[in-house]
Amino acid sequence: MLTNRTFTMIKPDAVSNGHIGAILGKIAGAGFRIVALKMTQLTKADAEAFYAVHSERPFFNELVSFMTSGPIVAAVLEKENAVNDFRILIGATNPNEAAEGTIRKLFATSMGENAIHGSDSDENAALESAFHFSATEQF
Ligand code: UDP
Ligand code: MG
Repeated sequence: MLTNRTFTMIKPDAVSNGHIGAILGKIAGAGFRIVALKMTQLTKADAEAFYAVHSERPFFNELVSFMTSGPIVAAVLEKENAVNDFRILIGATNPNEAAEGTIRKLFATSMGENAIHGSDSDENAALESAFHFSATEQF
Protein backbone atom coordinates (compact mmCIF):
# COMPACT_ATOMS: atom_id res chain seq x y z
CA MET A 1 0.00 0.00 0.00
CA LEU A 2 1.39 3.39 -0.94
CA THR A 3 1.24 6.11 1.69
CA ASN A 4 2.12 9.76 2.04
CA ARG A 5 4.47 9.00 4.92
CA THR A 6 8.22 8.70 5.24
CA PHE A 7 10.62 7.79 8.02
CA THR A 8 13.62 9.81 9.18
CA MET A 9 16.39 9.73 11.76
CA ILE A 10 18.46 12.71 12.82
CA LYS A 11 21.82 10.95 13.08
CA PRO A 12 24.26 11.05 16.03
CA ASP A 13 26.51 13.72 14.46
CA ALA A 14 23.64 16.21 14.08
CA VAL A 15 22.30 15.43 17.56
CA SER A 16 25.70 15.93 19.22
CA ASN A 17 26.33 19.09 17.19
CA GLY A 18 23.11 20.61 18.56
CA HIS A 19 21.10 20.62 15.33
CA ILE A 20 17.89 18.80 16.43
CA GLY A 21 15.83 21.98 16.68
CA ALA A 22 17.06 23.50 13.44
CA ILE A 23 16.49 20.28 11.51
CA LEU A 24 12.96 19.75 12.90
CA GLY A 25 12.29 23.38 11.99
CA LYS A 26 13.39 22.81 8.37
CA ILE A 27 11.21 19.69 8.21
CA ALA A 28 8.14 21.47 9.57
CA GLY A 29 8.83 24.52 7.42
CA ALA A 30 8.84 22.31 4.31
CA GLY A 31 5.29 21.21 5.09
CA PHE A 32 5.84 17.85 6.77
CA ARG A 33 3.61 16.96 9.73
CA ILE A 34 5.35 15.01 12.50
CA VAL A 35 3.16 11.96 13.26
CA ALA A 36 5.68 10.06 15.45
CA LEU A 37 8.80 11.27 17.30
CA LYS A 38 11.33 9.90 19.77
CA MET A 39 14.93 10.33 20.94
CA THR A 40 16.67 6.99 21.44
CA GLN A 41 19.99 5.22 20.99
CA LEU A 42 20.35 2.27 18.62
CA THR A 43 21.97 -0.93 19.83
CA LYS A 44 24.49 -2.67 17.56
CA ALA A 45 21.79 -5.25 16.73
CA ASP A 46 19.30 -2.45 15.89
CA ALA A 47 21.74 -0.70 13.55
CA GLU A 48 22.80 -3.95 11.86
CA ALA A 49 19.14 -4.86 11.26
CA PHE A 50 18.12 -1.38 10.10
CA TYR A 51 21.00 -1.22 7.57
CA ALA A 52 20.98 -4.97 6.69
CA VAL A 53 20.67 -4.09 2.99
CA HIS A 54 24.21 -2.60 3.23
CA SER A 55 25.77 -5.52 5.16
CA GLU A 56 28.14 -6.47 2.30
CA ARG A 57 29.27 -2.89 1.65
CA PRO A 58 32.78 -1.81 2.74
CA PHE A 59 31.40 1.00 4.91
CA PHE A 60 28.98 -1.24 6.88
CA ASN A 61 31.00 -1.62 10.10
CA GLU A 62 31.82 2.09 10.17
CA LEU A 63 28.13 2.90 9.58
CA VAL A 64 26.98 0.65 12.45
CA SER A 65 29.64 2.07 14.74
CA PHE A 66 28.63 5.65 13.88
CA MET A 67 24.88 5.03 14.18
CA THR A 68 25.31 3.53 17.67
CA SER A 69 27.76 6.21 18.87
CA GLY A 70 25.10 8.43 20.46
CA PRO A 71 21.41 9.24 20.52
CA ILE A 72 19.32 9.72 17.40
CA VAL A 73 15.92 11.31 16.84
CA ALA A 74 13.51 9.07 14.92
CA ALA A 75 10.34 10.41 13.31
CA VAL A 76 7.55 9.55 10.93
CA LEU A 77 6.54 12.41 8.65
CA GLU A 78 3.38 12.97 6.62
CA LYS A 79 3.00 15.04 3.47
CA GLU A 80 1.78 14.48 -0.05
CA ASN A 81 4.60 12.73 -1.97
CA ALA A 82 6.48 12.39 1.32
CA VAL A 83 9.25 9.96 0.32
CA ASN A 84 10.39 11.84 -2.78
CA ASP A 85 9.93 15.33 -1.38
CA PHE A 86 11.88 14.39 1.76
CA ARG A 87 14.79 12.97 -0.24
CA ILE A 88 14.94 16.32 -2.05
CA LEU A 89 14.85 18.21 1.28
CA ILE A 90 17.75 16.18 2.73
CA GLY A 91 19.96 16.26 -0.38
CA ALA A 92 22.55 13.85 -1.77
CA THR A 93 24.22 11.21 0.43
CA ASN A 94 27.57 13.00 0.05
CA PRO A 95 27.15 16.53 1.48
CA ASN A 96 29.71 17.83 -1.03
CA GLU A 97 27.21 16.92 -3.74
CA ALA A 98 24.10 18.05 -1.84
CA ALA A 99 22.19 21.05 -3.23
CA GLU A 100 22.34 24.42 -1.45
CA GLY A 101 19.81 24.73 1.35
CA THR A 102 19.36 20.98 1.82
CA ILE A 103 19.65 19.51 5.32
CA ARG A 104 22.80 17.57 4.45
CA LYS A 105 24.41 20.61 2.82
CA LEU A 106 23.67 22.65 5.94
CA PHE A 107 24.39 20.11 8.70
CA ALA A 108 26.35 17.06 7.46
CA THR A 109 30.07 16.75 8.00
CA SER A 110 30.97 13.84 5.67
CA MET A 111 29.58 11.08 3.45
CA GLY A 112 29.28 8.79 6.48
CA GLU A 113 28.31 11.36 9.10
CA ASN A 114 25.63 12.97 7.00
CA ALA A 115 23.19 14.27 9.60
CA ILE A 116 19.95 12.60 8.51
CA HIS A 117 18.28 9.51 7.08
CA GLY A 118 15.32 9.45 4.70
CA SER A 119 13.48 6.37 3.42
CA ASP A 120 14.01 5.57 -0.27
CA SER A 121 10.57 4.05 -1.04
CA ASP A 122 7.05 3.81 0.36
CA GLU A 123 7.70 0.16 1.18
CA ASN A 124 10.86 0.96 3.15
CA ALA A 125 9.16 3.93 4.82
CA ALA A 126 6.51 1.57 6.22
CA LEU A 127 9.08 -1.05 7.29
CA GLU A 128 11.38 1.53 8.89
CA SER A 129 8.51 3.28 10.69
CA ALA A 130 7.36 -0.06 12.12
CA PHE A 131 10.94 -0.86 13.16
CA HIS A 132 10.96 2.17 15.49
CA PHE A 133 7.33 2.83 16.38
CA SER A 134 4.36 0.68 17.36
CA ALA A 135 1.00 1.41 15.73
CA THR A 136 -0.17 3.33 18.82
CA GLU A 137 2.91 5.60 18.65
CA GLN A 138 2.08 6.75 15.09
CA PHE A 139 -0.65 9.40 14.91
N1 UDP B 1 27.41 5.63 3.71
C1 UDP B 1 28.77 5.68 3.93
N2 UDP B 1 29.61 5.57 2.84
C2 UDP B 1 29.15 5.41 1.58
C3 UDP B 1 27.77 5.35 1.37
C4 UDP B 1 26.91 5.47 2.45
O1 UDP B 1 29.22 5.82 5.06
O2 UDP B 1 29.96 5.30 0.64
C5 UDP B 1 26.49 5.74 4.85
C6 UDP B 1 25.82 7.11 4.94
O3 UDP B 1 25.63 7.43 6.32
C7 UDP B 1 24.50 6.85 4.26
C8 UDP B 1 24.18 5.43 4.73
O4 UDP B 1 25.44 4.77 4.73
O5 UDP B 1 23.50 7.78 4.62
C9 UDP B 1 23.22 4.65 3.85
O6 UDP B 1 23.69 4.69 2.52
P1 UDP B 1 22.68 4.95 1.31
O7 UDP B 1 23.42 4.64 0.04
O8 UDP B 1 21.39 4.24 1.56
O9 UDP B 1 22.48 6.55 1.37
P2 UDP B 1 21.20 7.42 1.77
O10 UDP B 1 19.98 6.67 1.32
O11 UDP B 1 21.26 7.61 3.27
O12 UDP B 1 21.38 8.73 1.03
MG1 MG C 1 19.39 4.72 1.68
